[in-house]
Amino acid sequence: MESKIIDKFGRSHSYLRISLTDRCNLRCFYCMPEEGIELMEKPSIMTLEEIIAISKTFVALGVDTIRLTGGEPLVRKNFEFLARELTKLGVTLKLTTNGILLDKYFDLFEEIGLKKINISLDTLDKAKNAFITKRDYYDRIMANIQEGIARGFQLKLNVVLIKDVNDKEINDFIALTKDQNVDVKFIEFMPFKGNKWDWSKGVSEEEILAVVQKKFGQIETLKNPKHSTSNNFKVSDHQGSFGIISTITNPFCGECNRVRLTADGKMMNCLFASKETDLLGPHRRGEAIDPIILDAIQQKKYSRDGMELKMDADHYEKNRSMISIGG
Ligand code: SF4
Repeated sequence: MESKIIDKFGRSHSYLRISLTDRCNLRCFYCMPEEGIELMEKPSIMTLEEIIAISKTFVALGVDTIRLTGGEPLVRKNFEFLARELTKLGVTLKLTTNGILLDKYFDLFEEIGLKKINISLDTLDKAKNAFITKRDYYDRIMANIQEGIARGFQLKLNVVLIKDVNDKEINDFIALTKDQNVDVKFIEFMPFKGNKWDWSKGVSEEEILAVVQKKFGQIETLKNPKHSTSNNFKVSDHQGSFGIISTITNPFCGECNRVRLTADGKMMNCLFASKETDLLGPHRRGEAIDPIILDAIQQKKYSRDGMELKMDADHYEKNRSMISIGG
């Protein structure tokens, strides 16, 4: 069914990203502001039943894919119950996680057919991982990645590249794709509230490709799937592939089909949305939320919430911190 959630540019939105919590068992410096965040009060957070009910409305409007994000989605209590119920809606269920707790859920994911898992991993160096995340789960994450690959899950490694932090590891990540069917996604460093964004610390798509070509020679350009958030490539004799999410230097908003639901039930029609639409309040008052959704999508700007030419601190500092959006 074609989605009815269509913005004024004719883009139909069939992909819902749901942030289950603003809690996380890591403290990545580009996601969680140094001073921490004011965690949401429990009553303001959607219950699992409310997540299911609101998801049902989105599915009735044409959403066919739901990605569960956080904070860290797997720290949400009774996650298993929620995953089972959402699967019953007939959508493709996907997950973005930091990978620490995956070992507890592989059996469930095999049972409910959740095969597509994105794992946030910014370095292949244990000490640096502890520096970036302020926690020491590297070995467990790496073990879960190997188990996931061995069990046939479609894993993508999300790598936020930051100069003088992990930009020297680009080809180490590419090397992972040689003998393993894993997909590496390099993400251009993006601005969110409190992450002290400065593009001079970013690594552009162009720079990434130059580094890879210098080491691996000619690389294949792959055909991007519809609505793709990345440009995709492959080193010819490698099993896996890599992609670049170039939101800063080469945004891909033309085919955007994504809307977001925050853990406190706000609809964001763009990752950089500075205005949100409350769905949880009306839902709790027993009001119909589908007209609210269809109206909210009419406010969507063409690209980056109106920051079409350049990122504007006055704008993105009004946004949330990454941890309470979920990417
Ligand atoms: S920046 Fe906004 S409009 Fe562009 S792809 Fe991301 S969510 Fe869509």
